Amino acid sequence: MIYKIIQEDYTLDRGFVKNEQSGIVYYTVFAFDKTGLIKHAFSTRLGGVSSCAYESLNLSVLTSDKLENVWENRKRFLNAVGIEQDRVVGAHQVHHDTIYQVTTKDKGAGAYDPQTVIPDTDALMTNETGLALTAFFADCVPVLFLDPVKKVIALAHAGWKGTVAKIAAKTAEAMMQTYGCAKNDILVAIGPSIGPCHYEVDKPVIEKVREAFPDYWTELFAGLNDEGHGYLNLWEANFRQLRDDGIPAGNISTAGLCTNCNQDLFFSHRRGMAGRQAAVIMLV
Ligand SMILES: [Zn+2]
Repeated sequence: MIYKIIQEDYTLDRGFVKNEQSGIVYYTVFAFDKTGLIKHAFSTRLGGVSSCAYESLNLSVLTSDKLENVWENRKRFLNAVGIEQDRVVGAHQVHHDTIYQVTTKDKGAGAYDPQTVIPDTDALMTNETGLALTAFFADCVPVLFLDPVKKVIALAHAGWKGTVAKIAAKTAEAMMQTYGCAKNDILVAIGPSIGPCHYEVDKPVIEKVREAFPDYWTELFAGLNDEGHGYLNLWEANFRQLRDDGIPAGNISTAGLCTNCNQDLFFSHRRGMAGRQAAVIMLV
């Protein structure tokens, strides 16, 4: 893979690497790259052709952005990462905990026509090469998985609903049950998403977090107050559920990049930015 590291910023300490290729800026995970088994990326908003609320690399067709711009952005992003467009496999994301096993028959789902995406699923997994698992995000947490021993990949979309439904832990479990992956072999990357600095939630969400993580729910918040508000740490909630599930802490890389703080780099739904970035992973 041809890419250059344009900045060795603090995310490198967390295992994330910032790359640039033909004007497209994206992040990869060092531990994933090192295996040589995959192509993968977390996109930023840099390097596309869209304008206004979609400036500039909006990758989602489910927005009011001009479709020709989105398709051009997708082409540029996939070219930069070295993935052919017809390999894309996408799903209709619904904030649930369904995990779908992708096979060759799904190749190209949503690649050219949004109507052809896999229905109602928030996690995709496969052990087949040439299938580029793809999902879209603005503030929700992209979670990528790689077992370099069994050669299995997965991707999960975890907003607060997916996080309390433990979609990340369930995806790791599904990899073990379906493909015989071992806990110690599964590498995980928790990508750019809204951070505890900005993710203020109210009582109903706090209650769901308490139910999902009864032993340490208070540790998942900053600034929890009596009026029923707090700042939820989605990164920690996903990290802890994976660790609870037996994934070694050292296998988990967290970008620690807040989409709301870093508006020069990322779209943030909470900031009223309508574009979407993508996460993609493919066995080669
Ligand atoms: Zn922030």
